[in-house]
Amino acid sequence: MRINRKDRKNKNCAGRTPKVLSVLAFGLLLGGCGTGAAGAALAGQQASVQSVAGWETIPEAESEEAAGSVVQPAATETGAETETSEETEDLSVELIMVGDVLMHDRIIEAGKQADGTYSYDFLFEHTADLIGEADLALVNQETILGGEALRYSGYPAFNSPTEVGDAEVKAGFDVALHATNHALDRKAAGIENTLLFWESTYPDMEVLGIHESAEDQQEICILEIKGIRIAILNYTYGTNGIAMPADKPYLVDYLTTDRVLSDIARAEAEADFTVVIPHWGIEYKLEPSADQKKWAKLFLENGVDLVIGAHPHVIEPMEWLEDENGHRMLVYYSLGNYVNATSGTGSGVMNRLVGGMADVELVRKDDGTVEIGNAGVIPLITHWEQGLYTTYVMEDYTEELAAVNAVRKQDASFSLNACRKLAQDTWGDFIISEEEAHEGF
Ligand SMILES: [Zn+2]
Repeated sequence: MRINRKDRKNKNCAGRTPKVLSVLAFGLLLGGCGTGAAGAALAGQQASVQSVAGWETIPEAESEEAAGSVVQPAATETGAETETSEETEDLSVELIMVGDVLMHDRIIEAGKQADGTYSYDFLFEHTADLIGEADLALVNQETILGGEALRYSGYPAFNSPTEVGDAEVKAGFDVALHATNHALDRKAAGIENTLLFWESTYPDMEVLGIHESAEDQQEICILEIKGIRIAILNYTYGTNGIAMPADKPYLVDYLTTDRVLSDIARAEAEADFTVVIPHWGIEYKLEPSADQKKWAKLFLENGVDLVIGAHPHVIEPMEWLEDENGHRMLVYYSLGNYVNATSGTGSGVMNRLVGGMADVELVRKDDGTVEIGNAGVIPLITHWEQGLYTTYVMEDYTEELAAVNAVRKQDASFSLNACRKLAQDTWGDFIISEEEAHEGF
């Protein structure tokens, strides 16, 4: 049995159903995803498997040494637990994703500590339990993590502290999605610094949508969890008019028909389940555009199973689409912002504080195919108060908090009821409770 170390998943699960055990025991990571050190070492050998015995803490160095070779699990007590778990756990994988982490100036500032260092753990303080217990957690990292040398800034050309990435790993995210219109806000250096940060600090993090080499861009990301092979593809419609340098045409993955069709064909051949994360749509529009609909149709026709969109900075509906052969695909057109601190004012600004956490169960059927079981969305609200920016599950948000949310100074229409109405009008029966999410439906 090939096992991937996913020990960081353990920390958020105290007192919860120990479904995490099966993740730890059976999670498996295939090489060729993203740009981690192990991924780079595996470039060109996609069938190679990075695997580590046992799920208790394994030294980082051992993990990297294991790249490219299959390691048998040690016959330990942990192994015995593994077998018990295999018999009792169903073959489902819970995937969650949150929308745009949009690091405006005020949020950058809020992370500054008295000693001059930065910390952004507060961004995930109220959501980390849901993030940490999912088998696979994705975050749309809208802005690059280019480091201080490139000067931090918010709108319009963003560059964020790498400590945002530290907080994301701590919260339990497994995949950082970087194909965004802000990917080139600090040109090649921004992307290269971002990749260097992830590779050197968190080689297990899957980093999608940006690349350090043409070879790296050739790979598609396939993660195997509990035996289910999940391909994840991430593209952006553009980069705000900033072109890739002529000598580095591989930096960002663009949403272009040829590239998308070729990747989907590979994903369909090599994986059980294909997810596309498009950075698309029109900012602040609450409905999908004709272009989003066109792309969704193309994804459906080519066998994609799940689409989770980012970029509009407000939420958009979700729907099931079905082709003439009965193949079904679920689309979340936009999850909105996970966190932001826009300086915009006027009616509609409050919409940018409402987001969603997609929660999708992938199930292996008796015939071996993998399809979506339960799926829904957990509404979120961003809270601004006295230099603090954080995000709550909407269900946990209170009238007291809403009364002091500083967004009211920019949009007087903000209220808990208005947020609830927006979520309800947009998602209706797709909304699931926090309890349903914790219980895996
Ligand atoms: Zn965007």
